[in-house]
Amino acid sequence: MERFTGRTLAVATIHGKERVIGPALVAALPLAGWEAIAGVDTDRFGAFSGEVQRTLSPLEAAIAKARHGAEVSGADLVIASEGSFGPYPPAPFLSCNEEFLVLLDMRDGQVFSHRKVFLGPVFGGERCTSRAEVLAFAERMRFPSHQLVVRRDEHWRAGDQVFKGIDDADGLRTVTEELIVAYGSCWVETDLRAMANPTRMQAIADTAAELSAEIARTCPACGTCWFRVTDTRTGLPCGLCGWPTASIRAHIRSCSGCGHMQQEPRSDGRTEEDPRYCDHCNP
Ligand SMILES: [Zn+2]
Ligand SMILES: [Zn+2]
Repeated sequence: MERFTGRTLAVATIHGKERVIGPALVAALPLAGWEAIAGVDTDRFGAFSGEVQRTLSPLEAAIAKARHGAEVSGADLVIASEGSFGPYPPAPFLSCNEEFLVLLDMRDGQVFSHRKVFLGPVFGGERCTSRAEVLAFAERMRFPSHQLVVRRDEHWRAGDQVFKGIDDADGLRTVTEELIVAYGSCWVETDLRAMANPTRMQAIADTAAELSAEIARTCPACGTCWFRVTDTRTGLPCGLCGWPTASIRAHIRSCSGCGHMQQEPRSDGRTEEDPRYCDHCNP
């Protein structure tokens, strides 16, 4: 933990994420404070609205953002964030939001990273051919608290206009009606930038709180910080028949300093799985 004492955390992120990331780390670590890096251009590593495709994995993108933040600011302790959206691997018919945070210490190059998966954030996209379809989709996406992006087609092409951050009914009506008149349809999707999507902002706040707690955990053998969860054990018993399910039963923590490992029960205290997820009761 001495690593962090008295240092200032620089947050290399835009879209308002610094407001939830900075305080979470300052609360858990002996930092002097935090500041947002001015002039950081994190959109060049990929933008959700389609104009810049991300070519790196989310973890690589978060590391690249942190390095870029260190370069432009000269800061030596930098945190960056990256999110992705897609099918939820254990149940691909559900969609999920995966958030990554990377804390980079330029003094020795150490990277502290954390990944967390959420089912709660509201997101989606739909082709709409009428005002009624636009309104029905907007309502499902919790518009206007969750802002929308509108463009001609699902896949952005050079020259296409992208209307981002739409947060009022009149604005939504104007842009969608123009596109529908001109092309017969338009593409409407959630604006995934954190400040435009409060359920995603909450996911980032939760990820930051978890990252800080993991970093603050010290190894019982040698005292190095970030005694973190590196592996899991499946086999949480079914609550009805006791059969081991594919769900997580225990976490394994390990130390990057001395290699010490320790098994601990699930953090939510659950010791049984719902029989719906049991291959024996519900094949
Ligand atoms: Zn069972
Ligand atoms: Zn250790």
